Amino acid sequence: MRILIANDDGVFSPGLQALAAFAAEFGEVRVVAPDVEQSSMGQAITSSRPLSYRPTRIGKFDGYRVNGTPSDCVALGIHNWEKVDAVLSGINQGYNLGNATWHSGTLAAAKQAALFGIKGISMSSMPFEKLEEYESLKPMALQVLQALLSKETTSLLFNVNLPVSPRGISWTRQSVRHYDGKVVPMKDPYGRPVYWFTAVPIESVEPGTDRFAIGENRVSVTPLSIDITDDRCLAECQRRYPFNGSASEA
Ligand code: MN
Repeated sequence: MRILIANDDGVFSPGLQALAAFAAEFGEVRVVAPDVEQSSMGQAITSSRPLSYRPTRIGKFDGYRVNGTPSDCVALGIHNWEKVDAVLSGINQGYNLGNATWHSGTLAAAKQAALFGIKGISMSSMPFEKLEEYESLKPMALQVLQALLSKETTSLLFNVNLPVSPRGISWTRQSVRHYDGKVVPMKDPYGRPVYWFTAVPIESVEPGTDRFAIGENRVSVTPLSIDITDDRCLAECQRRYPFNGSASEA
């Protein structure tokens, strides 16, 4: 099995090496990651300038660094390595729960794989500074990867979050909560206005969701779909406002 490893924290993240080491238990591994941090870039792609793909030793692994986004890395990685079976992204330095999935570059790399018809798995945990610290996640990370990389698991996109010293694994839903999206104004050292865009959840945690599982100190595994169409609304709108006979098309 050929497993491509990407992330959004960049080639120097210990989480990247930890994930490559976990993946090596299941097959051949190649790392393709951004040359600098690309967190919160979401699904952005670079379309206005060329991209470079430079060989870089990443810990024990052969890798490449790309001057682009996580999605660029996956596209170039798949282009330059035939028959990739799965793309693993992470391990991100920080959880990607609920609404974070909209902004996360880590999840976007996995999504990019799914868009190419290849299995994409995003993994995130609390930030660790040293590679050795990821050992505490290894037993359950391997258990999760065993299940998700299996041929019987046909879904293409998964979001995995690993708490420190987890006491179990749960299948979860994405927690979709409204957040305050508050913009906090400050001043830079020259007295010029600068702003922080903060996103703090404002609703309580629902059981069965990714955020709930992490609160219970369990690994959260969420299968995701690429199609975000609101089917209930679509049906209702077609019925209520049959523009150009769209109701008959339904
Ligand atoms: Mn990140």
